[in-house]
Amino acid sequence: MLTYYCPHCWHTLDAGVTVCPVCGYDLTEFERLPYSQKLIHALHHPIPERRVIAAQVLGDLGAREALPAFEALLDELQGEAYDYYLLRAVLEAIARIPDPRRVTLLRRATHHPADLIARLAHDLLARIEASERLDTPHQALGGITGEENQHT
Ligand SMILES: [Zn+2]
Repeated sequence: MLTYYCPHCWHTLDAGVTVCPVCGYDLTEFERLPYSQKLIHALHHPIPERRVIAAQVLGDLGAREALPAFEALLDELQGEAYDYYLLRAVLEAIARIPDPRRVTLLRRATHHPADLIARLAHDLLARIEASERLDTPHQALGGITGEENQHT
């Protein structure tokens, strides 16, 4: 059995409800939102796995519009709100979004109070910088091994 949630206040809803009885949000309005906007909402879903999946799919989509929400999460998910799995998914998604702001966000994340997150941000940055070097036309170093070209 599916549980329905209000995408605005995350209260549970009965199936078929069109207006949230708690906050008054019009659910038909939500249905009209673009897919990436729904996913951005789902970054705050009450079920942790849903939040992680939303971040992963936004990364798959290369959704630039998610960058401000990711930036906010990096600030929010500290101290008591620390959520390693979501932060890891957020960082990995940021790294896959083809936008120069990803470098700025990852650099900031290298100062995250959680060591694991700071280190992951560092590794992702190094990977982006290495791939950008490979893309530059006047590549002085020859003999780049095939291993580096495999995209996982
Ligand atoms: Zn609501």
